[in-house]
Amino acid sequence: MTHPSLSAEEITSLDASLLWHPYGAFPSSTTPLVVTEARGTRLVLADGRELVDGMSSWWAAVHGYRHPVLDAAAAEQLGRMSHVMFGGLTHEPAARLARLLVDITPGGLDKVFLADSGSVSVEVAVKMCLQYWRSRGKPQKHRLLTWRGGYHGDTFAPMSVCDPDGGMHSLWTDVLARQVFAGPPPRDFDPQYVDEFERIARSHADELAAVIVEPVVQGAGGMRFHDSRYLTELRRICDEQGLLLVFDEIATGFGRTGELFAADHAGVSPDVMCMGKALTGGYLTLGATLCSTEVAETISAGEAGGLMHGPTFMANPLACAVAVAAVELLLARNWRGEVAALHRGLESGLAPARDLPGVRDVRVLGGIGVIELTDPVDMQAATDAAVAAGVWLRPFRNLIYAMPPYVCTGDDVRNITAGMLAAASSSRGARSP
Ligand code: PLP
Repeated sequence: MTHPSLSAEEITSLDASLLWHPYGAFPSSTTPLVVTEARGTRLVLADGRELVDGMSSWWAAVHGYRHPVLDAAAAEQLGRMSHVMFGGLTHEPAARLARLLVDITPGGLDKVFLADSGSVSVEVAVKMCLQYWRSRGKPQKHRLLTWRGGYHGDTFAPMSVCDPDGGMHSLWTDVLARQVFAGPPPRDFDPQYVDEFERIARSHADELAAVIVEPVVQGAGGMRFHDSRYLTELRRICDEQGLLLVFDEIATGFGRTGELFAADHAGVSPDVMCMGKALTGGYLTLGATLCSTEVAETISAGEAGGLMHGPTFMANPLACAVAVAAVELLLARNWRGEVAALHRGLESGLAPARDLPGVRDVRVLGGIGVIELTDPVDMQAATDAAVAAGVWLRPFRNLIYAMPPYVCTGDDVRNITAGMLAAASSSRGARSP
């Protein structure tokens, strides 16, 4: 059956009257671009323009769009079953994915919960930590210690550990679980910072279940990088203070920072680890929460007799099959070389931004490039400038950043950095003296 297609104007009109967008409003002050197709590193717009994608659809589409291997994996799985419940049933895509994830993640992460998004994988991680301490007869250990400036998702447990200071969830401060916050780690290693963090952990140890952080890169909370030695210190502090350690690798996982997982920069194993986004190469929504056998067995020995979470779309076979293909594809490619090439291209392409007025910092790590302005960016003007340069970006706050697909060519990266410079030059911050 073919569907009658809508014109771009009809799509825009229906969108404006019916659809919420991320952090959106009615009526919306902006009009989203209509995308009709995405292939390789390009988004194709309804008016025929093609944009090089600097965003990988929010860190996810690392292999680019319409990759033949991923298309084939989805089609093949669709021919068998797109979904079955996971209560009382199991299937090959979930089994293969679990084995693959256990094999490639830091040692000791042996049990796999397949959730339906990044935020839900963080919900599951939080629940694991709280249930763990309940099972050990210490229900008072139910708070989390985290860094200010973080972002862990939009549902309630993740929101409670997002940046509390003017972050996008500060609206909810009065109804969120009360967590414990330490300052964000400085970029370079600072033993004094570690001492201060340790003091906070020690003074709250009786009520803390876990420390949860984004390792090496705090993403949507501010695109901040930090020395991986902090992770080693976190592991030590958690062991000494009797706290679980959770790494949220939803943005950093699968090569983005130059190691397969950000934890690998320090050779540290957390007790619980969350992933999502690039897990399916950005094809389908899927998250995973891995934990140690000790965490799993302790939870299971508790009064509930198991982990009390079980969503309808848990371990969705279609998403799992594509995830297996996406992870195997990543491992088969020279992803390390691709991310290193992205790093070099972003470094050289963004170097001129250092001389632009209103630019506070330019930083690159693996496949992540950031221009930080002194003032908030005019989001629409910056987006328009990038689009005029043939590039898709999504600046926020005072940040113009990119994390392109790993399959970008050198020309793609040159286009993306040129688009970032155009966005930076267009912004109010960069124009001010
Ligand atoms: N954690 C981190 C570090 C993220 O960057 C994100 C999304 O940007 C999330 C959690 C939430 O993931 P999702 O948007 O898939 O719910």
